[in-house]
Amino acid sequence: METERSCRECGRAVKWLTSQGGKKLLCDAAPALMKPAGGPLTYMTPEGEIRRGRKSAKGTDVGYVSHRCTCPAIRQRRKEATICEVPVLRHGHRR
Ligand SMILES: [Zn+2]
Repeated sequence: METERSCRECGRAVKWLTSQGGKKLLCDAAPALMKPAGGPLTYMTPEGEIRRGRKSAKGTDVGYVSHRCTCPAIRQRRKEATICEVPVLRHGHRR
């Protein structure tokens, strides 16, 4: 069943889709033309198949991209998490 709603984090229209295997994926509500290329985005076809690829005007698939891949809020949080995990010298100390 498709339930359209707004992302709690960024307010964009999203919906839960269920794959053929019964896996639930929070996707952008609007489908995009996708090119199956192994990454970097995860998307679901209208048939419920989960694939990986990129957005492309010459794409051969119609896909609903996983909102985890497109949500600015989630991406921002992930970026921060990465920064926390990896010690990064942000400012070089020049003396
Ligand atoms: Zn979002």
